[in-house]
Amino acid sequence: MLEIKDLHASVDGKEILRGINLEVKAGEVHAIMGPNGSGKSTLASVIAGKEEYEVEKGQILLDGQDIEELAAEERAHKGVFLSFQYPVEIPGVSVTNFIKTAINETRKAKGLEDMPAKDMLKMIREKAELLEIDRKFLSRSLNEGFSGGEKKRNEIFQMAMLEPKLAILDETDSGLDIDALRIVANGVNKLKSKDNAVIVITHYQRLLDHIVPDFVHVLYNGRIVKSGTKELAHELEEKGYDWIKEEVGA
Ligand code: ADP
Ligand code: MG
Ligand code: MG
Repeated sequence: MLEIKDLHASVDGKEILRGINLEVKAGEVHAIMGPNGSGKSTLASVIAGKEEYEVEKGQILLDGQDIEELAAEERAHKGVFLSFQYPVEIPGVSVTNFIKTAINETRKAKGLEDMPAKDMLKMIREKAELLEIDRKFLSRSLNEGFSGGEKKRNEIFQMAMLEPKLAILDETDSGLDIDALRIVANGVNKLKSKDNAVIVITHYQRLLDHIVPDFVHVLYNGRIVKSGTKELAHELEEKGYDWIKEEVGA
């Protein structure tokens, strides 16, 4: 599904990613860990196509297609979802109306008509029920006065509605409390299937107690310096990152 080959990327002329290789297949959950400033959010942003990042070298293939020339929006339409670390408040636009617009825009990009209102309503009900979201929440203004947990709930709801092929959750800096952690983990576990893939970016191991990854990668200084299974996450929790730095001779 996703294949990243020797990816080098920079921001403001400063090289951040220095040769990333990563393959994510449908049905898999990958965790990316690593110390602060190692380039995790940059990698997420580059995959999603954020403009301020410059790809200097290498390739990002989605279902075999090089997506380098595609704008962030077009990547989203192809099924790439990046969670928002800093969600915007949109007073007067409800959680439901925001997602309706997003879904119809995606359909428009594919040359499809708007989703019939009846189908949309059915889908909203199903997903809300699956994620234990009550109706009152759905009519609230987007992110206005949302708690950390509510922001996460909205984010996971958006993900559920958009049914992305590749979901990237960057949780590094958001200081997830237990409530928010449970919402994210439940959501991911309920939504993952053999047809989609999830990349969870996290600084801490604790999220991975709830979302069990198939693979764990350690990003350090713009490179994936170690890959393993969930045991690697436990090892990092116990020993920190210093041993990895030593191992790679940093
Ligand atoms: P992580 O998510 O692993 O903490 P980041 O990808 O956020 O790491 O950052 C990696 C490095 O790139 C840091 O040194 C950071 O300061 C720099 N960086 C990231 N984004 C930007 C940006 N938009 N402008 C300038 N520097 C950036
Ligand atoms: Mg950071
Ligand atoms: Mg980050």
